[in-house]
Amino acid sequence: MTKKILVLPGDGIGPEIVAEAVKVINRLQSDSGLDVELEEGLVGGCAYDAKGHPLPDETLQQAKEADAILLGAVGGTQWESLDIAVRPEKGLLGLRAGLELFSNLRPAILYPQLASASTLKAEVVSGLDIMIVRELTGGIYFGQPRGVRTLDNGERQGFNTLVYSESEIRRIARSAFDIAMKRDKRVCSVDKANVLECTELWREVMIEVAKDYPEIELSHMYVDNAAMQLVRAPKQFDVMVTTNMFGDILSDCAAMLTGSIGMLPSASLDVNGKGMYEPIHGSAPDIAGQGVANPLATILSVSMMLRYSLGEAALADRIDGAVNKVLDDGLRTADIFTEGLKKVSTCEMGEAVIAAI
Ligand code: NAD
Repeated sequence: MTKKILVLPGDGIGPEIVAEAVKVINRLQSDSGLDVELEEGLVGGCAYDAKGHPLPDETLQQAKEADAILLGAVGGTQWESLDIAVRPEKGLLGLRAGLELFSNLRPAILYPQLASASTLKAEVVSGLDIMIVRELTGGIYFGQPRGVRTLDNGERQGFNTLVYSESEIRRIARSAFDIAMKRDKRVCSVDKANVLECTELWREVMIEVAKDYPEIELSHMYVDNAAMQLVRAPKQFDVMVTTNMFGDILSDCAAMLTGSIGMLPSASLDVNGKGMYEPIHGSAPDIAGQGVANPLATILSVSMMLRYSLGEAALADRIDGAVNKVLDDGLRTADIFTEGLKKVSTCEMGEAVIAAI
């Protein structure tokens, strides 16, 4: 059956990089029988300008009807003074909440060709391939009660609540274990079970769910040690699964091990595997409209979409292989360029990937 992909280019470099990713999808449609139908929608600042809201009702409806969503990026200086309720970023949060995208997949992959881009020694990071699975809709970012109150003595006190129900932990555990089954079958669950009761329960439930996955090797690590290990010896990890806040911090740390923000895709999945796919970077207003942005993170987001939402792992492998090939051939957009290699535009990089497919 034909699958529906909603394409949301967004703001800044979003339309430029998404255009290249769409060309990749078109190529797979025409030469490999990929049976998908594309529809375009508005989100972010451009949606605010056109419809008065960063997530118009029709966009949310389109997203609900789609099998997968491909998003560029949102935001830009011209919308920074808007009321927080209608800032471009609210469009993303609204999509995550409206679609119940609770499982955030953040791969940190360092292509050996780009090992010199990392601030870490090449032998520590070359060939790095970690998947961080972050719980996205619960934990301390959403827990109630929250706020700032004034105590009887007149002092102000800020408070937030870290809360996870068993069912929330169980579903993110399953999401991580299912992904690990497609990889090296090793999951490291990151918590702070020595201090936080909530993550003591997290650890207990992880162990319970792991019983359904006898092939998975489950380990546990306190978050402070995980941060150290990510910098000391990151290649020890296959899949890491963790809470919303720990994942927020660790996934950015892991991303920076690779040194190249323009290379990293991400996915946010619901309980049925429907997902929203986007590069981890923002709308890069400083380079928007110049045709120099790196489209590879967005093209690799299409690869994740094929793998995790559309059941087309072989086509995903072809995209990954094509990206490897263009890097092997020495093609580089400005953000990953080093002397002696061939500097290309957004469009030339896209064309090269298509040719390599
Ligand atoms: P950014 O990721 O947009 O840019 C950071 C730096 O990386 C910039 O120098 C930019 O030029 C560069 N960069 C980013 N993507 C690149 C690419 N594909 N190719 C080459 N270089 C690239 O982060 P920022 O500058 O902090 O934020 C800019 C805007 O993006 C803000 O409005 C912010 O709110 C928004 N933002 C959106 C998302 C999202 O849509 N998911 C994420 C982060 C930031």
